[in-house]
Amino acid sequence: MSTRHPGAQCPECQSKIDGASPCGDDPELAPTPGDLSMCLYCGVWLLFDEQLLPTIRATELDARMAPIELRREAEQIRALYVERLAH
Ligand SMILES: [Zn+2]
Repeated sequence: MSTRHPGAQCPECQSKIDGASPCGDDPELAPTPGDLSMCLYCGVWLLFDEQLLPTIRATELDARMAPIELRREAEQIRALYVERLAH
């Protein structure tokens, strides 16, 4: 289930993030505080805070909890973001 929330600002790229979609086998899964998330604009790993907004930067260790496919996707998004910043 995709979740809409009032909106948070990515601490890395300052993009507005106002929704989340679960990954994995359970389509009804909704975020809980501390869950891992990824900014689709810059590929940075985030954690949901107590208000269920993805505002906390995740550590490298947190990010290792993500499935390898998502980590690869995050790396690709990150590379594109860094390249965009350079131009
Ligand atoms: Zn971002």
